[in-house]
Amino acid sequence: MIHVGIGYDVHPFAEGRKLVLGGVEIPHSRGLAGHSDADALAHAITDAILGALGEPDIGHFFPNTDPRWKGAPSRVFLAEAARQVELRGGRLVNIDASLIAERPKIAPHLAAMKLALGTALGLDPRRVGVKATTNEGLGFIGREEGIAAMAVASIDLPELEATR
Ligand code: MG
Repeated sequence: MIHVGIGYDVHPFAEGRKLVLGGVEIPHSRGLAGHSDADALAHAITDAILGALGEPDIGHFFPNTDPRWKGAPSRVFLAEAARQVELRGGRLVNIDASLIAERPKIAPHLAAMKLALGTALGLDPRRVGVKATTNEGLGFIGREEGIAAMAVASIDLPELEATR
């Protein structure tokens, strides 16, 4: 049975932070603020996978009050989501995601992101879609106050047992 899930995340820009998106460090004047490495793309994908499993969101598995996840690389969250799929005898079919960022230019990094995300998930990078768009100068993204990401995940799961 194919299950799908959706994920969305936003992080604000902050001075003195590295910009990490899709597991790739991207040269830029600022990074994203957050408890972990603030990789909004990885977080959206993690939520999409957890959503397809009917699980609560990333904050449930990795509370931002837990010092263990302070500065944590978000590949840890992706790997845990993939592990949850495996625990249920499921198989990730594909991921698709969009980054919405006014700057920096994301296109030169898309191939590296697909590779890093695929590696973290144990998924062939050809099954990982990553796209990027600007917000045409509109709103908080247009003002370069932050970056947003959205994702969907498709997972093949064993049939659920009938409930009485
Ligand atoms: Mg997040």
